[in-house]
Amino acid sequence: MSNKNGEVVINDHWIVSSRGKKNPVDPQKPYGWLVEKELSASGKIEDMATIFLTNMECPFHCLMCDLWKNTTDHPVPAGAIPAQIEWALEQMPKVKHLKLYNSGSFFDDRAIPVADYQKIASLLTGLETVIVESHPKFIDESCLHFRDMLQAELQIAIGLETVQPEILRKLNKHMTLDDFRFSVDYLTINGIRSRAFILLRPPFLSESEGIYWAQRSIDFAFSAGVECCIVIPVRAGNGAMDHLLENGDFSLPDIHSLESVLEYGIGLNAGRVFADVWDLSLFSGCTNCVTLITNRLNEMNLNQKIVGRERCSCRIINDQIN
Ligand code: SF4
Ligand SMILES: [Zn+2]
Repeated sequence: MSNKNGEVVINDHWIVSSRGKKNPVDPQKPYGWLVEKELSASGKIEDMATIFLTNMECPFHCLMCDLWKNTTDHPVPAGAIPAQIEWALEQMPKVKHLKLYNSGSFFDDRAIPVADYQKIASLLTGLETVIVESHPKFIDESCLHFRDMLQAELQIAIGLETVQPEILRKLNKHMTLDDFRFSVDYLTINGIRSRAFILLRPPFLSESEGIYWAQRSIDFAFSAGVECCIVIPVRAGNGAMDHLLENGDFSLPDIHSLESVLEYGIGLNAGRVFADVWDLSLFSGCTNCVTLITNRLNEMNLNQKIVGRERCSCRIINDQIN
């Protein structure tokens, strides 16, 4: 859909109508779980589990989001979310830290029924940290209500995405920077630590602008009071992003830009900064670079220290051609 100047008009209708089909999901089972290493806030490298809960689709339609793929169209019945958590905890090794990610906002009561909070909290007894995600619009007393039921420390992840004002508007996130700052402040005042998701190279930005705005977004997130930032290279695959890719309005970021942004974030020494290293082969044409850089990013994620870059032979060949 374009306006009279030929520019794409980004709105809920266009984003939703660009989608493909959802994956089949079972409301009684999470659609995934995993355990990976993470440097904890206390400075220890420990197992961190993530349960990907199946629940109703997020009411927002962010331009870059593909989380709707594993959601239901209607709220899941009361009791389904605790059943999913119980099932996943039985499958996985015992961990101290757990993310409960629900493809939306944990505090959206159409996603996670409030009536389930108590049962969820009792299933999480014995954990040290529980991390959930939420859009700022759902950050209110319900966070405190859930925190008070938990034995573990509650942390909340919020998508800041980008502080480039025009791009943030185009992402259709229905969030301002003030909304983000206000929510982080509210959580901090109430003793709840927060983390920010930051996008590397959202649409309509060049590679260098992508790096620049990811760095400014890290600056902003820490100044707002978050304790941790996660940098996510933007992908296509949700329909809308694929259209933008075809039109030349979006290009996948380069894997080396992710290194630059992580180096910058760690160098600030303002809190933990992690790079999302999932499927980095999308962001490089060289398999050797992908292996070298994935290892390097993993090491920097875990130690929060900048590791020297290794020069892959493809870069030397490129330099000779240029
Ligand atoms: S708020 Fe989060 S889950 Fe909801 S559409 Fe936006 S990115 Fe996706
Ligand atoms: Zn290479």
